[in-house]
Amino acid sequence: MASAYYNNMIRRVLDASYSDCWEDAVYEWEIVDYEEDEDCESVCICGKQGIRYLYTIRNRETRIQLYPIGSSCIRKFERDDMDEEIAVLEGMFNLYRAIRNRERIELSSKYFSKRLLRALFDEGAFPANQYNKFSGWNDYDFMLTMFNKRDKASITAAQHSKIRGIIAYSIKPFLERKLRTKTRGSL
Ligand SMILES: [Zn+2]
Repeated sequence: MASAYYNNMIRRVLDASYSDCWEDAVYEWEIVDYEEDEDCESVCICGKQGIRYLYTIRNRETRIQLYPIGSSCIRKFERDDMDEEIAVLEGMFNLYRAIRNRERIELSSKYFSKRLLRALFDEGAFPANQYNKFSGWNDYDFMLTMFNKRDKASITAAQHSKIRGIIAYSIKPFLERKLRTKTRGSL
C-alpha cells in the first residue's frame, strides 16, 4: 500500500512540474503555506488519510499549487532544506499546543531543539525589552545555555522563573501570531 501512495504522490507532483524527471522536479517546489489539523481528518494528495500537518507546495516554473501534502510525502522529496523547514514548523506547532494545554514546559528535547530556538530567534520571537537589556539575543542565548545544560537540576529557581517569563511573554505571543489561524480542530 505504501508504494501505491508513493506512486500517487510522484504522479501528482510530476504532472504539475516542468521537468519530467523526479530527481530534477523536486527542486522546482517550495512550501508556501502550512496548517495543523488537530483531528487528523485530512487526506494527503497521495490518498493517505489521517494526516496532521497540511502543507501547500508551489512549483516555481508552472505556478501550480498542491494541497494538502503531508510531512511524510514532503520527506520523499529528499530535500534537506524542506526537511529542516517542516521540522522547525512542527516543533513550533508542538510547542504552541503544549502552551495552550498549559503543560509544564521545560527546556528539554520534548519541546525544544537547538534549531527550533534558533528559528524562534531568527523570526523575532525574542523582542528587545527591559528584561533582556534591550537585546533579544540575550534571551536566545540564555535559553540556549539552559537547553544545553546536561544537568537540568542545576537550573536555579531564578533561572526557571526567567525561562517561564520568556515563554509566557515572548514565545507564546509570537506563536499565537504565527499559528493561531493555522490551527484547526477540536482542541
Ligand atoms: Zn502523502
